Amino acid sequence: MSASIDAAFVAASFEETFGSKPDGVWSAPGRVNLIGEHTDYNEGFVLPFAIDRAAAVAIRLREDNTARLVSSYGDQEIVSVDLTSLSHQSMSGWTAYPLGVVWVMGQMGITVGGFDLYLHSTVPSGAGLSSSAAIECAVATAFNELESAGLSLNELVLVGQRAENEVVGAPTGILDQSASLLSTDGNAVFLDCRTQESKLVPLDLDAAELLILVVDTKVTHAHATGGYAARRASCELGAQVLGVQALRDVTAADLPEASGLLDEETYRRVRHIVTENQRVLDTVEVLDDAGPAAIGALLTASHASMRDDFEISCPELDLAVDTALAQGAVGARMTGGGFGGSAIALIQSADEAAVSEAIVEAFAAAGFTAPDIFAVSPAPGARRIG
Ligand code: ADP
Ligand code: MG
Repeated sequence: MSASIDAAFVAASFEETFGSKPDGVWSAPGRVNLIGEHTDYNEGFVLPFAIDRAAAVAIRLREDNTARLVSSYGDQEIVSVDLTSLSHQSMSGWTAYPLGVVWVMGQMGITVGGFDLYLHSTVPSGAGLSSSAAIECAVATAFNELESAGLSLNELVLVGQRAENEVVGAPTGILDQSASLLSTDGNAVFLDCRTQESKLVPLDLDAAELLILVVDTKVTHAHATGGYAARRASCELGAQVLGVQALRDVTAADLPEASGLLDEETYRRVRHIVTENQRVLDTVEVLDDAGPAAIGALLTASHASMRDDFEISCPELDLAVDTALAQGAVGARMTGGGFGGSAIALIQSADEAAVSEAIVEAFAAAGFTAPDIFAVSPAPGARRIG
């Protein structure tokens, strides 16, 4: 899988499939969350960056009300849908992502007529790098322009989130779509999920001779959705018992008192969110003051908190993190919702081969499925590319 998206290839694939040229090609990246896990729906802080892997859509508007959609991935069958009877309850499969965006825009009074759409993505699906938001954001960016809707980037974030929540049925926050839409080349996005205020934070890995390695464990646990919902429920319970709007309003100084009010498990869930929010703030400060070489301990502490307090790691993620650290990584942590997916390791660029090999060997020795390991760099957000 080639990481960079070739707009000409996507346009040519569109033409081969539909017999005419597209009106344009738009792309939106996947993301790595550098730090700040499960803090988004607690109205807290996150620090993701867009990666150099993206979803691209070539689209041509039609005169009628039919949508025809194809993805280069899978069976490449054309899915044909009558938009006049589009219902958010009846969508299933991958087309729920693009059609979900169309449905949400319709709910906002932005009527999208018929169209042909060809999707090509280099974001691995289900690896915790947000292949889903990449599709939503590429499609939302495209129709925002094609229909002259004039939505701001923050509004497009909410369109993608609503598609994911109300159509696909995944109760996710705004992290993924914000990273995909707001990122710029070479920066991470510090995002306050309560106010949707964001700030770009330089993440100059090259200057520090560092790189970020993604270890896709290929693990997708059947209970991931249930586990995510259970963690959300624990956080809501914690906020309710502590009498705050969201766990964002609880600080480290409140923790001793909170421990007396909450059951043991809920307390640990709350402690993860509270300490993780602080780690995001600390990471932004350390990046500003000392650069990426100094954030390793925060990344590794974040992993320990997810493993022990929030309990969303798994043996494969722990092994990836531990092996990277044993090989001298600056810091490492699981990233994404948990229960599988990917880990990230911040390493010296020169160590890429050694760290990768050590992880492959450790996985083989443990009898785990071979992971996919690749470097990512901070990339630009959603935009028109052709
Ligand atoms: P993640 O966002 O972490 O990759 P999700 O489960 O949220 O995982 O989204 C994965 C889903 O997105 C897939 O099941 C599929 O429906 C859709 N998807 C991802 N990539 C593609 C693609 N290239 N073509 C079609 N659908 C895709
Ligand atoms: Mg997703």
